Amino acid sequence: MDANVKNVPKAAFHREANRRDIGLYLHVPFCVKRCHFCAFYLVMENEKRMARFLAALDRELELYRQHPVLAHRDVSTVYLGGGTPTALSRTQLSSVLARVARSFSLTADCEVTVEATPESLTREYLNTLLEAGVTRLSIGIQTFVQEERIRLGLSSTIEEATAGIRLVKPAGFTNVNIDLMYGIPGQSFTSWENTLRLACEWEPTHLSCYALSVEEGTRFDSAFRRGEFRLLDSDREKELQLHAIEQLELAGFCQYEISNWSKSGFQCRHNRRYWQGEDVLGLGPSAQSYVAGCRFGNVANLEQYCLRLEHGDLAVTERETLSIFQQHKERVVFGLRMLEGVPNGWIDLNARDPAWAASLASFLEKKYLVQTPERVALTAKGRQFADEIGSQLL
Ligand code: SF4
Repeated sequence: MDANVKNVPKAAFHREANRRDIGLYLHVPFCVKRCHFCAFYLVMENEKRMARFLAALDRELELYRQHPVLAHRDVSTVYLGGGTPTALSRTQLSSVLARVARSFSLTADCEVTVEATPESLTREYLNTLLEAGVTRLSIGIQTFVQEERIRLGLSSTIEEATAGIRLVKPAGFTNVNIDLMYGIPGQSFTSWENTLRLACEWEPTHLSCYALSVEEGTRFDSAFRRGEFRLLDSDREKELQLHAIEQLELAGFCQYEISNWSKSGFQCRHNRRYWQGEDVLGLGPSAQSYVAGCRFGNVANLEQYCLRLEHGDLAVTERETLSIFQQHKERVVFGLRMLEGVPNGWIDLNARDPAWAASLASFLEKKYLVQTPERVALTAKGRQFADEIGSQLL
């Protein structure tokens, strides 16, 4: 093994060397400001920091490219998230993607997603993304209601956000996701309905609808502790989710995961990897990887990330090798988030543990799960308690 890859967890690579497909996640940790609910690792954008980050990312790609196992694997999905990848200049973003394509063998139908804030989208930027090989755009809108945008601390007004989305289709993007959020303080049933309707009017191929959660260290967390707002109770939150299910179905979307809907043929292939326990290599500060049964993560600190790579080492700080049994359990729990459920064969692998088998039998009996001759899936009732069911099966 090359000395430069000494920080790569070895357990991650000594097995399944001939499995071909892998996904790449690149974390671009820059934003113009932090939204009140956001707990992702990021720093404020700044030219010097960005240039140093890009040099470190280049080095990280080079180190992984050299690895004997990764060198022979095709990359079928690439996902640039953050942060805001479109905080990078057009030249910087194209050179990252060109570097990825030079470092790995990308499949002919490789799905390349870039997350974007709507206000960062200009005609020129969109053209650059298309020319650089981006096949899918994921736009963080959250809400089409201006007061809710202010409450979330989003950096753009509804007019600025709309001006960005308006350019996407004419530029030639045919696969577009819009992220929405429900459970925003003060959000009414009508305003959620309005946001869903307006999102559908832009004819995206994919929608993600997430419930607001209060994450430690965010501005919402401090405001929540000071009693400045209350979260929706879980019944109200379920009502809003059920409303999304009904409204999006009427608009021709198919729910394929608890929080994700798509038009036919437009499920997110990269995110399916996580739910199906497939391998993803994460690059950039705080990025997480799961490769051949080993989970490992990069340091969530830009300075340390850059320093480590400048010294020729990877920035991996945490690693955990999962037992075969843990791997199977996780695959079932994450797989159950998808409406298609998981093959019976995955269940059989876990059923050797009597306690696990008993929990599963009880969920089947209570009709939270349903089993066909081929698969096991959550029922509509079970999907409302997916987190609770998941934690019991882990
Ligand atoms: S734009 Fe996205 S990544 Fe940046 S602070 Fe807001 S939610 Fe977080």
